[in-house]
Amino acid sequence: MSGDRGGAATILHADLDAFYASVEQRDDPDLRGRPVLVGGGVVLACSYEAKRAGVRTAMNGRQARAICPEAVVVPARMEAYSAASKDVFAIFRDTTPLVEGLSVDEAFLEVGGLARLVGTPKDIAARLRGRVLAEVGLPITVGVARTKFLAKVASGVAKPDGLLVVDPDREREFLHPLRVERLWGVGAVTARKLHGMGVHTVADVATLGEQALVSLLGPAAGHHLHALATFSDPRRVTPGVSRRSIGSQRALGNRRRSAEELDTILAGIVDRLARRLREGGRTCRTVVLRLRFGDFTRVTRSHTLRTATSRTDPIDDAARTLLAEAMPTIHDRGITLLGLSLANLDGEGREQLELPLAEDAGERTALAGGPAAEDTRDSAALDRALDAVRARFGAASVGRATQLGRDPGISVPVLPEHE
Ligand SMILES: [Mg+2]
Repeated sequence: MSGDRGGAATILHADLDAFYASVEQRDDPDLRGRPVLVGGGVVLACSYEAKRAGVRTAMNGRQARAICPEAVVVPARMEAYSAASKDVFAIFRDTTPLVEGLSVDEAFLEVGGLARLVGTPKDIAARLRGRVLAEVGLPITVGVARTKFLAKVASGVAKPDGLLVVDPDREREFLHPLRVERLWGVGAVTARKLHGMGVHTVADVATLGEQALVSLLGPAAGHHLHALATFSDPRRVTPGVSRRSIGSQRALGNRRRSAEELDTILAGIVDRLARRLREGGRTCRTVVLRLRFGDFTRVTRSHTLRTATSRTDPIDDAARTLLAEAMPTIHDRGITLLGLSLANLDGEGREQLELPLAEDAGERTALAGGPAAEDTRDSAALDRALDAVRARFGAASVGRATQLGRDPGISVPVLPEHE
């Protein structure tokens, strides 16, 4: 059934292996072949040697060192990772103009139009891996398939340092024996629920049927998993840098600004842009901070979110992190302009499709009373409430608590009594 849907395997999912840890091993030969943990408090990344000992990303550092006492712990060097990421993405874009970045170290590449010019997708994937190793010094795994989802599953199966092509005629053979955890969006909680129903493989998911999945996991995750297990993934590769973006900036003059003051100004900009997103029924994936320094140099920093959103909180978090990272430079050179753009805009319908792929959001929402679900619901509800109040009483009628917390000098907004 999967084979007669038509279409060729022309989507590459390219994913650097143990990215931060690989950069450390590249730059320090002493670390090669040894278990490496990046980050002391929480493990930001770990080498495959550490993974083999049972260490996982996001694990508590103390726990990781207990599991793997011989591990070498190194501090994160974000500039080095960011430079490596840029180098790798330059190779991606040199391979095809259709690159959709998912994070600093992974992207989808559509190479269908290139076949007659430069070879088959498999040839292109092999050459890409060779170039990333030769030119950037990093191992990268590539999955090749007819759909994004299958390409991503393929790279996961092929890791580390692998290349795997899923032939369109053999999709079912490839996918159905895999464990449910391989499905994009299935994390520990969903996996546990599925196992409880005797569902262990993707084939079991397909057999269970859509209605049962929906009653077990809720509509979003249920439809999503059913679609994945039955090979319906119509999403195309969309180039990562969208021409569509919205932005706002503020000239600051020459006087020095405190971190708190900048934070408050930024919060106001975020709030305004996020509201415009919601008013337009749009979502964004990428948050871009623009700065002009006292010496007139400019810099742009961007962060791509795991999932598209129109909520203020995640946009605010990303913007604040970018600003915090730039604070040393701002301190040295002064700042004369602060701006923010939201890029990778899309309509709400697209977010619906992407939403269940965020396993944390999808799963924890399904868990009644889970703290993250509460947060997500609360913050979306807060967004809607604030939007509604502003629509009736004007933009200045109410501010967010986060803005207040940043600057005690701002007067406390008062909600109209009858609200
Ligand atoms: Mg990776």
